[in-house]
Amino acid sequence: MHILLHACCGPCSIYPIKSLQEQGHKIRGYFYNPNIHPYIEYGKRRDGFLEYAQKIEVPTIIDEGYELDEFLRNVSFREGDRCRVCYAQRLRKAAQIALKGDFDAYTTTLLVSPRQKHELIKEIGTAIGQEMGIPFYYQDYRPGYSQSVQVSKDENMYRQQYCGCIYSERDRYYKKKNAEDGK
Ligand code: SF4
Repeated sequence: MHILLHACCGPCSIYPIKSLQEQGHKIRGYFYNPNIHPYIEYGKRRDGFLEYAQKIEVPTIIDEGYELDEFLRNVSFREGDRCRVCYAQRLRKAAQIALKGDFDAYTTTLLVSPRQKHELIKEIGTAIGQEMGIPFYYQDYRPGYSQSVQVSKDENMYRQQYCGCIYSERDRYYKKKNAEDGK
């Protein structure tokens, strides 16, 4: 199959690309992540992904639509359920591009991370695929997560310290600091 692989960053793309290619699929990477804040961080992840894809000769589409306003509007007052909104925004766009590009299916590197809400990604990806008429290629890439981490370190790739949105950055640093201060 010709599969559009939504990619959130370089490190998370390593194992899904390898696994899909080993199965004989033709891959095109697709970067669309307006959830990543601030923009400097977004650029680091985009460039890290692009550099890796070019190195292993995987073609890419870099969607420069940094729709920050839309992301924040969608999440507003639903901060506790923000990942659902975040996955849906990114996967819907990926499905649209897959349809437009006449791909056989689409999938996402988000399925490699044990830190993501795996079942929710599967549910949303499948539902959007059914609604739009483009199959969501589901695979549990998590068994390859540690391999991805190791390769990304060996390759000296940029590795992020938080999931992506400003809320996750707060959770990573502010809550940690307060816990350390005993607050
Ligand atoms: S924590 Fe991660 S998946 Fe959830 S909304 Fe933030 S960036 Fe998106």
